[in-house]
Amino acid sequence: MRVLILGSGQLARMMYLAGCPLGIEVSAVDVKNHQVVNPVTKAPTGQTLAQAAEEASAISAEFEHIPEDLLQQMEMTGKFYPGSQAILAGADRVREKQLLEKLGIANCEHRIVDDAEQLDEAVAALGDKLILKASRDGYDGYGQWRLTDRTDLSKLKKQLGSLDLTKVPLVVEKMLNFDREVSLVGVRGKDGQLAFYPIAENLHHDGQLHVSVAPAPNLTAELTEQAQHVFTKLAEELNYVGVLAVEFFQIGDKLLVNEIAPRVHNSGHWTMQGAENCQFENHVRAVCGLPIGDTRSFGASAMVNIIGYASFEQNMLSIPGVHLHWYGKDVRPKRKMGHFNVRGEDYVQLGQRMLALSEHLP
Ligand code: ADP
Ligand code: MG
Repeated sequence: MRVLILGSGQLARMMYLAGCPLGIEVSAVDVKNHQVVNPVTKAPTGQTLAQAAEEASAISAEFEHIPEDLLQQMEMTGKFYPGSQAILAGADRVREKQLLEKLGIANCEHRIVDDAEQLDEAVAALGDKLILKASRDGYDGYGQWRLTDRTDLSKLKKQLGSLDLTKVPLVVEKMLNFDREVSLVGVRGKDGQLAFYPIAENLHHDGQLHVSVAPAPNLTAELTEQAQHVFTKLAEELNYVGVLAVEFFQIGDKLLVNEIAPRVHNSGHWTMQGAENCQFENHVRAVCGLPIGDTRSFGASAMVNIIGYASFEQNMLSIPGVHLHWYGKDVRPKRKMGHFNVRGEDYVQLGQRMLALSEHLP
């Protein structure tokens, strides 16, 4: 079997690696120049996009910022999972909020702003601690602006002056003082079967994920149930096939959805060492119509992103339970270059290993 992935970054690479033992060949297409490549070596396969799409048993995506004409073209093949409706719900924050509202899913209080004047109304309604998010093309905290004080409003309006808000509106959210961020990564098969990984706790810095710990400490059965209920509603509404991630803010014992990612997700990378079957294998299995693999986890796991640097002391690999996943990309500030997965029998051992790892980090 063959799977074609739209996007040729590290997520396609990890799907390729997960497909190998199953005898499933994963190729990737750069959505800008339509070149079809091997996601590890980046060597062109020699196929055109049309050929690769024709020969694939399934087509999927590693990210949601895909030109709409390409999405349409893939949808026409009848083998594009999770499908353009799901991809667009992840790509466009306005659609995403509309979907959450339609399904009655709790999310962050917000306003949609498509001209600068409405910003005043948003401030009047939500207060002056706000986070403004471009409705499209944002990731890792890019395409976001923060307002912490009303007196900065005119400065912010100037900054936004170059944007055409009628084309790309802003979703303006109240800045929440949440207790923590968690995410649920799960998978739905073509037969509608659902499987969930344990919820992960995620630590962000400047809008970018740095560390995930799974299972999230202090999880209650009620929290898990809430998150799985939300996931199920979304996955069924979208007739979803594949891995889906839902990011939440936790406030007390309540979860509010932050955003959804219709794909394998950075907060699920720990599953490569920490679960019976990782998210990448399960995504490939799901889109190929194969049975979903067991999602149970072992002990306690963490994932530490390697962000913006390309060298580190290699002897950190001698720490038991530490695994390196290197993506082979050129280094740039804030770029995700790879990640460490760390495993322990329990949180105490995981903590010791994380501490040992941190002593080697720049
Ligand atoms: P991205 O697509 O870049 O991941 P997110 O909407 O998930 O965008 O925002 C990135 C991070 O910014 C979140 O994980 C969270 O740490 C912070 N953030 C986003 N929205 C809010 C909010 N309304 N209140 C407080 N923090 C927020
Ligand atoms: Mg996010």
